[in-house]
Amino acid sequence: MIKTVKGCKDIYGREMELFQYIENVLSKMAESYGYTKIITPIIEYSELFQRSVGEDTDIVEKEMYTFQDKGGRSLTLRPEITASVARSYVENHFETLPAPLRKYYIGPCFRYEKPQKGRYREFYQFGVEAIGDISPLIDAEVISLAYNIAKQFSLKNIKVRLNSIGCRKCRPHYKEALKEALKPHYEELCSDCKRRFYTNPLRILDCKKESKELKESLPKITDYLCDECRNHFDKVKEYLSLMNIPFELDHTLVRGLDYYTKTVFEVISTDLGAQNALLGGGRYDYLIEELGGRPVPAVGFAMGMERLMTILKAENKIVRKDPVIYIAYQKEALKEAIEIANKLRGEGFITLLDIKGGSFKKQFERSSKRNASYTVIIGEEEKEKNTVQVKNMKTKEQKEIPKGEIVTFLKEWRKNA
Ligand code: AMP
Repeated sequence: MIKTVKGCKDIYGREMELFQYIENVLSKMAESYGYTKIITPIIEYSELFQRSVGEDTDIVEKEMYTFQDKGGRSLTLRPEITASVARSYVENHFETLPAPLRKYYIGPCFRYEKPQKGRYREFYQFGVEAIGDISPLIDAEVISLAYNIAKQFSLKNIKVRLNSIGCRKCRPHYKEALKEALKPHYEELCSDCKRRFYTNPLRILDCKKESKELKESLPKITDYLCDECRNHFDKVKEYLSLMNIPFELDHTLVRGLDYYTKTVFEVISTDLGAQNALLGGGRYDYLIEELGGRPVPAVGFAMGMERLMTILKAENKIVRKDPVIYIAYQKEALKEAIEIANKLRGEGFITLLDIKGGSFKKQFERSSKRNASYTVIIGEEEKEKNTVQVKNMKTKEQKEIPKGEIVTFLKEWRKNA
């Protein structure tokens, strides 16, 4: 038997129901903030992620699905989607559109990670990107959308963790100060952090293996921000308060990817246990430039759909389902049955035409198994009289109505159901 690839899974049944529900809610919420959807390819040139996500990140170092195609090009299954949206911005000249450009996406991402609870090798990300504006108000707006998503799904103890990691001007000074403070502790650092000490010391703050005491004792980046970054950060906080979004400052929050500048944030909930970040994001003012565009500031976030699905599953979330109409018939009335089925489908009813035929008893049994709300019955007699029988499968009430009234009848019932 051939199985799914390790760390990947099929989505069907109850999970699919939740997936579609989440997808609908997220799309509607993003659209209510003016975001429109973008679909980018699942494969990109590897260089895109090497240049954007960063060489010294777990993603690029250890987790990318990279392969050569038949033409000898190095391709990668996308580990995230921000880089692709930024690539698309440059390639399709989105700078000619009104700024900020607001885009959202939903799609699969791939990371070669050790599969465990909440971690998969193929997983789905939803995210938004607001590209082309430097105002702290857009940071606050993006964070407000992120926060409201967590609220919309009724997660418990929702918090926004917030930090600023500065810019090209001020971050180098902080890096130096951080290295200075870390020097006496170098031998205590984990092997990854020993390397990060030289390549990207900020990421030591993000490492789960280092102690809280050590992290607390280190200099805070917010004390090293240049005037521009400090003013920006102050404004973000002011706007968040204006929007009634509760946040917590956390100077150890740096996020794993290289492209972030200034604002970084996460939305967390106690519903998520150890992997408590529902989503994460921030500003990335240099990414578009790195990818060959003009310098264009941007901000966004990404969220893993699986985590939300796990929570909703645990809560036994009831997703309202559209009613099913079942059509039972005698073989002499097949033509009329097909006609009615097509008419109902045209009116947006989920309509199942019985396939096997046989006695009405058998057909009712099949209707029940499909949890149909109504069975429409058309036999030889009804055909002659130009009528149908409609049977409410819950109350078992059955009555005869003119064939021409079936749509009005079911619409009226659906309105009150
Ligand atoms: P990141 O791009 O690493 O900032 O991750 C953004 C979001 O994607 C996280 O908050 C997670 O919810 C989700 N995520 C990241 N990696 C995985 C994974 N391997 N499996 C499932 N969800 C993931």
